[in-house]
Amino acid sequence: MNIEKHIEAIIRTIDPDAHDLQRTPARVSDAFEELYSGYKHDPKTRANVLYNSEMDEMVILKNIPFESNCEHHLMPMIGEVSVGYLPCGRIIGLSKLARIVDCYAHRMQLQERFTMEVAQAINSIIEPKGVAVHVRAEHFCLTHRGVKKAGTHCVTRYFLGKIKENPELRKEFLEEINA
Ligand SMILES: [Zn+2]
Repeated sequence: MNIEKHIEAIIRTIDPDAHDLQRTPARVSDAFEELYSGYKHDPKTRANVLYNSEMDEMVILKNIPFESNCEHHLMPMIGEVSVGYLPCGRIIGLSKLARIVDCYAHRMQLQERFTMEVAQAINSIIEPKGVAVHVRAEHFCLTHRGVKKAGTHCVTRYFLGKIKENPELRKEFLEEINA
């Protein structure tokens, strides 16, 4: 990612006399490389290990921490994702679920789209009967600048398949993640 010279221009614009910042553009470039590494992969096409299973109750992985950056301000959004799916003959390694979350988090994001992308990826990889995703995040563009509403969190949810159709399954998921 060749953004060093752009970062240097931003630093000079903020403080034309800035010194002791010689290595900062390179460090910021490295940080961006890491923060936006999610474009290198498409979780839906990556080889994923699935296991046959007779499990027919919801599998839930809750409170997965994530860090992303909003595409409106390039400021951090930090929170937790909970995902659930209703298997249909196949289950997936739990760490793979966390990797799907990480991949989409390492992009410039909107929380709403992030929530849907995670759900749709789980749906296309496992082909379960239903998927549920719940995201709760603090947006620094809301809490550290502008209206500065400290302590505010944004909550988004997205459901697919049987979990979308069946209010009882949605309730089961939401009760479990709030327990
Ligand atoms: Zn923002």
